[in-house]
Amino acid sequence: MKAIVIGAGIGGMCTAIGLKRFGIETEVFEAVKEIKPVGAAISIWPNGVKCLNFLGMKEPLRRLGGPMQSMAYKDFQAGNTLTQFSLEPLVADSGERPYPVARAELQAMLLDTYGREKVQFGKRVARVEQDDSGVTAYFEDGSEAHGDLLIACDGTHSVVRKYVLGRSVERRYAGYVNWNGLVEIDESIAPSRQWTTFVGEGKRVSLMPVANHRFYFFFDVPLPAGLAEDRSTIRDDLTRYFQGWAAPVQKLIGQINPETTNRVEIHDIDPFPELVKGRVALLGDAAHSTTPDIGQGGCAAMEDAVVLATILQTNSLGIEDALLRYQAKRADRVRDLVLKARKRCDITHGKEKNITQQWYEDLKSETGERIIHGMCDTIQGGPLA
Ligand code: FAD
Repeated sequence: MKAIVIGAGIGGMCTAIGLKRFGIETEVFEAVKEIKPVGAAISIWPNGVKCLNFLGMKEPLRRLGGPMQSMAYKDFQAGNTLTQFSLEPLVADSGERPYPVARAELQAMLLDTYGREKVQFGKRVARVEQDDSGVTAYFEDGSEAHGDLLIACDGTHSVVRKYVLGRSVERRYAGYVNWNGLVEIDESIAPSRQWTTFVGEGKRVSLMPVANHRFYFFFDVPLPAGLAEDRSTIRDDLTRYFQGWAAPVQKLIGQINPETTNRVEIHDIDPFPELVKGRVALLGDAAHSTTPDIGQGGCAAMEDAVVLATILQTNSLGIEDALLRYQAKRADRVRDLVLKARKRCDITHGKEKNITQQWYEDLKSETGERIIHGMCDTIQGGPLA
């Protein structure tokens, strides 16, 4: 059996690694010549970590992961702590730790695990066709590739998605802009082993530790889409949006490097139930694009890959049957994740001001129990729970 994998992001590489581990021949095609991940870092929650463990990356992942042992919310103006609690109950419940990691390092680990030299870069798929003998991918450079099945891991702007669904879907602007990057840890901004988030005015400023004494930081601001802001205006923009915020936030704005800070308008896509068509499957953001508000988009792609590889390995009723089983196992799970993230996005970013205000109030009496319960519920829905 030979699988064509389109896209060498988190979804594509986890799929290729999973299939390879089960002895399925794979060919990976990636549109760009060099992958430059959007976003500086990513939090991999225990459901995702378990998938990477399953795919054979247990040890290298630990070297990349930051020591995130506790979590705290802080008031935006005074900077005082609203709630602070250990993440150990989450670890005990799920059987794994969460690992925030720098994206470039995660991408390098995935490529090295699979075999970087085996990925064909600069190959942008334009369309796919299938018949009883298999699937053909046609690339923009005029070349083509043939396999028994094709896994489209071509991200949120997927071209294969339209082929699978028979219609186009629109990305939905979630109403806020996210700036993110990496900065050296400074204990006067936040503790080095904590996920710290300043909240107020429907905005967020968050810091998570990643390996090598760095914070992954992000700023969220509810804004209209399409503003004329770019890298050259980042520091001025953040200074304006976070005027009056606590001293650590001002210090962070002073310390970021605008050249390596990303600005992303956050989108998702209404969930859809069809993830496969015959011998072609969608996986990762191509299949389910979510806002990052519960940090699960990449983890869901890892889950997809583990489920798909396992079904292809264990099923003997043919490829189309296996892909339908993949769809049956994944469609509800990924819809739930997208909608859960959307709900959290709206609460966090002040879609309805009174609800967000109530959330700020609730944080003052939060012991950690409710937040950890919600996270564990999400994590336990994964395939390796
Ligand atoms: P992508 O990473 O988009 O990869 C798709 C690949 O396909 C790309 O390399 C692209 O070049 C290639 N490609 C595209 N079109 C073609 C084509 N036609 N032919 C060939 N190749 C093609 N997730 C988490 O789990 N935790 C987090 O903390 C988290 N934080 C996030 C923060 C932000 C600000 C954002 C925006 C997202 C976050 N996510 C997080 C989500 C996560 O980044 C995505 O879900 C994940 O990267 C999706 O991986 P993917 O492989 O499906 O898609």
